[in-house]
Amino acid sequence: MTNKDLLSITEEFGSPVYVYDAEKIISQYNRLTNAFKVSELRLHYAVKALSNISILKLLSLLGCGLDTVSIQEVKLGIKAGVDPSKIIYTPNGVSLEEIEEVVKFGVQINIDNLSILEQFGSRHPQIPVCIRINPHVMAGGNSKISVGHIDSKFGISIHQMPHLLRIVENTGMHINGIHMHTGSDILDIGVFLYASEILFEAARNFKELEFIDFGSGFKVPYREGDIETDIEDLGQQLTKKFKDFCKEYGRELALAFEPGKYLVSEAGKFLARVNVIKQTTSTVFAGIDSGFNHLIRPMFYGSHHDIVNISNPEAKHRFYSVVGYICETDTFGNNRRISEIREGDILSFSNAGAYCFSMASNFNSRYRPAEVLWHEGKAHLIRERETFEDLTRHQVELDFPVLNNELAENN
Ligand SMILES: *Cc1c(COP(=O)(O)O)cnc(C)c1O
Repeated sequence: MTNKDLLSITEEFGSPVYVYDAEKIISQYNRLTNAFKVSELRLHYAVKALSNISILKLLSLLGCGLDTVSIQEVKLGIKAGVDPSKIIYTPNGVSLEEIEEVVKFGVQINIDNLSILEQFGSRHPQIPVCIRINPHVMAGGNSKISVGHIDSKFGISIHQMPHLLRIVENTGMHINGIHMHTGSDILDIGVFLYASEILFEAARNFKELEFIDFGSGFKVPYREGDIETDIEDLGQQLTKKFKDFCKEYGRELALAFEPGKYLVSEAGKFLARVNVIKQTTSTVFAGIDSGFNHLIRPMFYGSHHDIVNISNPEAKHRFYSVVGYICETDTFGNNRRISEIREGDILSFSNAGAYCFSMASNFNSRYRPAEVLWHEGKAHLIRERETFEDLTRHQVELDFPVLNNELAENN
């Protein structure tokens, strides 16, 4: 996608707008599949990163399965045509009722606490279940996305293995998979290799396994020169460890991952128009036609998104603070070097594929933006911009007859 392509997209579909490059998603998918040379590799795309049905369809056509965390994501996946046998459901803290609803779709259930495991096992001992282990490794880019440490709410602690085994034995349930997911933005492949030993240790307790799932958390680059998870190196080292384990286990197992960010983060650009340039005594602000209601990661996680002025890319660089229109602190980036910005210019935000649109809201009663998929040199609208009807659709307007009468009498 060239700057010219992006500008023509804002002309055709308006701003702000999300644009995803299908070719980048495909190349990331291929890079992952080529890195792990095992007899069966199962990739489940983490739907929560970007849940547009056309994106799910695209990944499904490549052969990718889905990782889901809610019954609604399961339904979206099935609507997108994904075979339920290629969907894994990895909820945290949901009700037994929701899990039992999801079972009816025929997707793989992954359970992450002993209480639900025992209840589910007693009621459905014949349905195979994967268990999410908490390996107690500290990993991830920041505390909000580190989920594998000792006081995390995720997974069943490896220290509770005896209790877990008692539940499995008492209920007669079948464990067909072992799973972990320790965080996001993990740079050090040593974390995966170390945690793999813990998963193998857990796996030795179960005789009916079909797969071991290493979750995700691969780090992608956010700025030029940024380091990313070395997938090829991880592929080589983990493949070897995995093959050795399968030999010991006595059977070939499938190796599974659940990448979200890795597949879609870099494919996405968020395009917004500059409404106003505001020069104060200390700062030059560029105020855009969007805010953290559309892209919350900088305010929520302190995430970095590169910002480029695609309307004036060759101009001299100046320093800007790029801010949104939300009525509280709403900063996309402070003191960024950007080629000179004029009112009306279009700014392009990088790494806008993962956890951007999917976390967007209607705060300040703004419409959520349109989404466009760039595929084979053409722009395809995959979600319309919202309209005023979307804001009012589920609101119930009361008539207040008593108050209205009183008002009438008093006048
Ligand atoms: C969020 C999540 C993922 C995806 O993580 P990324 O960092 O986006 O790759 C995978 N598995 C589970 C269980 C998750 O909750």
